[in-house]
Amino acid sequence: MIMGAALLVLLGLGLFVAGLLTGVTAWYWACVAVCAAAAVLIVLARRSMSRAPVRTAAGAAGASGPVAAAPAETVTAATPAGTTESGASAAGAPVPAVRHDEPDDPPVEEVEVTDLLLIVDLTDEVLVVDEHPRYHVADCRWLQGRSTIPLPLDEARTDGFTPCGVCRPDRTLAARARARRSGS
Ligand SMILES: [Zn+2]
Repeated sequence: MIMGAALLVLLGLGLFVAGLLTGVTAWYWACVAVCAAAAVLIVLARRSMSRAPVRTAAGAAGASGPVAAAPAETVTAATPAGTTESGASAAGAPVPAVRHDEPDDPPVEEVEVTDLLLIVDLTDEVLVVDEHPRYHVADCRWLQGRSTIPLPLDEARTDGFTPCGVCRPDRTLAARARARRSGS
């Protein structure tokens, strides 16, 4: 309604300018007619505005309602997504559990810093046993008779596994890495 009035006023202005430019009286009359129509529209708009506050208030409430509800929805939507994500990572990949040392676990390998620096990023495969804290190389005698799970070394380390003191995987893999470097 207001937009219509504004358009009519613009049209009236255009007609007024046209009248000025051409000097044709008909343009002025057209302008007056358009302006009168605009005035009628504005009056009508004012009348509907005086009744409008209830509606606009309701509209504002309606508008703010969904806006206020939207974050809550995204929060509730995000929470199950996060749950399923962590659930998937817990259920999907068979991540072996790291437990505290038990009496039958081998001691932790004492690793030299130079070896540690070499192996810390390696993705060479090491073997872990579910619910035991050490990782091993394949020929470790402690692994005999146990079911092993292969893991990349960096993953085993970030999962909290520690090197086995019997088979000394860090030293073995560091030696392997040195051999690869000198070979290439
Ligand atoms: Zn071992």
